[in-house]
Amino acid sequence: TTAILWLRRDLRLSDHPALCAAAGAGAVVPVFIRDALVDAMGAAAKWRLGLSLAAMDAELRRHGSRLILRSGPPALVLEVLAGQLGATQVHWSRLYDATSKERDIRVKQSLRDAGLNVVSHEGHVLNEPWTVETGSGGFYKVYTPYWNNVKGREVPQPLDVPELRAPDAWPESEDLDSWQLGADMRRGADIVADHVAAGEVAARDRLDHFVGQGVADYSDLRNRPDRDGTSRLSAHFALGEIGIRTAWHATGASETYRKELVWRDFAWHLIHHTPQIEDESWRPEWRGFPWRDDNPDAERWRRGMTGEPIVDAGMRELYVTGLMHNRVRMIVASYLTKHLMTHWRVGLDWFAQCLIDHDPASNAMGWQWAAGCGPDASPYFRVFNPETQAEKFDPDGAYRHRWLNPETSVDAAAYFKAIPKSWGMSPDDPYPNRMIPLRDGRQRALDAYQEFKQGA
Ligand code: FAD
Repeated sequence: TTAILWLRRDLRLSDHPALCAAAGAGAVVPVFIRDALVDAMGAAAKWRLGLSLAAMDAELRRHGSRLILRSGPPALVLEVLAGQLGATQVHWSRLYDATSKERDIRVKQSLRDAGLNVVSHEGHVLNEPWTVETGSGGFYKVYTPYWNNVKGREVPQPLDVPELRAPDAWPESEDLDSWQLGADMRRGADIVADHVAAGEVAARDRLDHFVGQGVADYSDLRNRPDRDGTSRLSAHFALGEIGIRTAWHATGASETYRKELVWRDFAWHLIHHTPQIEDESWRPEWRGFPWRDDNPDAERWRRGMTGEPIVDAGMRELYVTGLMHNRVRMIVASYLTKHLMTHWRVGLDWFAQCLIDHDPASNAMGWQWAAGCGPDASPYFRVFNPETQAEKFDPDGAYRHRWLNPETSVDAAAYFKAIPKSWGMSPDDPYPNRMIPLRDGRQRALDAYQEFKQGA
């Protein structure tokens, strides 16, 4: 028999339950479908997906297989493909955000109606969202008890790459280049490319490097954007280029690191149980908070021109590399939602456009945490002071220097090459003054909060 493996955010061969199940059934045809969800991806993540698909095809070919590309509504594409191949089974790895779940439920029903055997599998997270329950049978809203629940659980060992039997004849595939997945990148993709290595082999190298050199110092250095202190695996996890169980077992020496992997799981737990986390303030009492919609200050924030050095450094790092250090993500998010009193959705949307590790669950949880309206959030009145944060976590100013001084730093200069001409910015322009004194911004946010609380 022939089984179709519908790949989505699981672009790897090892540690892949769905692939193993499909291979166990007979010949396997791996397919990636460009559907409405792919079209809706942010510019950088979509461009990055193209690199990952190319790498996946190369890996599959090394194993005597290949990646079939098709466009259209998945139910139709899969049914047609199954008809062409005489396939009887379709396998995939489960996802837990609302859009993916709605799609998958529809596709499953439609394929079953067409007589196909459809099986979805675990593999995207360490623990599936519904398997972690509080004493009273509900879901967790706070991280620490969630961690306490899962930390002692046995995580299955990663599965080896199975033998991949080819079908008698390969079906036709569309051409990846013709998909133009990088078309929405307004910035120089070649500049971002210098910072990106996609695919399973690159992910494995990165993990090995981190296990060899970084994991021991992770607790000490993970908050330091001026140091190479974190694993930088997030973009690989976002597309499943490396399995989460593989990372769990490889990094057992560091509980701090494993706790971070569990933060990722916790985000998927939350988005599964409260899908509205992507769209509206998680705590209902926050829904009328007088945050501003998009505004000129927010535009300066996006452009890394607020005059607040650590904030601008982060926004420029984001633009050039498609990533931003976690500590700085928290700082820029606090600054936007508090000092600039701008709705967290404005920030979430910009991150979704620019991040190559964009993940709907972690992004929503991160923004709602920073804005104070999410589950287990930092309270709104605790306003990060960017200056103090910078002194503490970038003590010598090396990170700010790297991203703010185009005359002496290659990365800072690259920013001006990457940005669209229409922004009218030049490296010769003087660095801007602060838009708002920090103390005033903080006071404005606290006053708004007080007033809102009294009115509520
Ligand atoms: P490491 O420190 O090496 O951590 C290892 C892994 O643990 C990460 O790769 C990630 O999978 C997970 N992890 C670590 N911190 C977090 C966290 N706070 N929340 C969830 N998972 C975590 N992460 C994304 O992957 N995609 C996003 O779109 C995203 N958006 C964010 C938005 C905001 C406002 C904030 C504050 C955080 C966001 N994060 C997001 C979480 C975090 O910033 C990144 O996962 C991290 O910076 C990735 O770098 P790393 O792989 O070197 O992390």
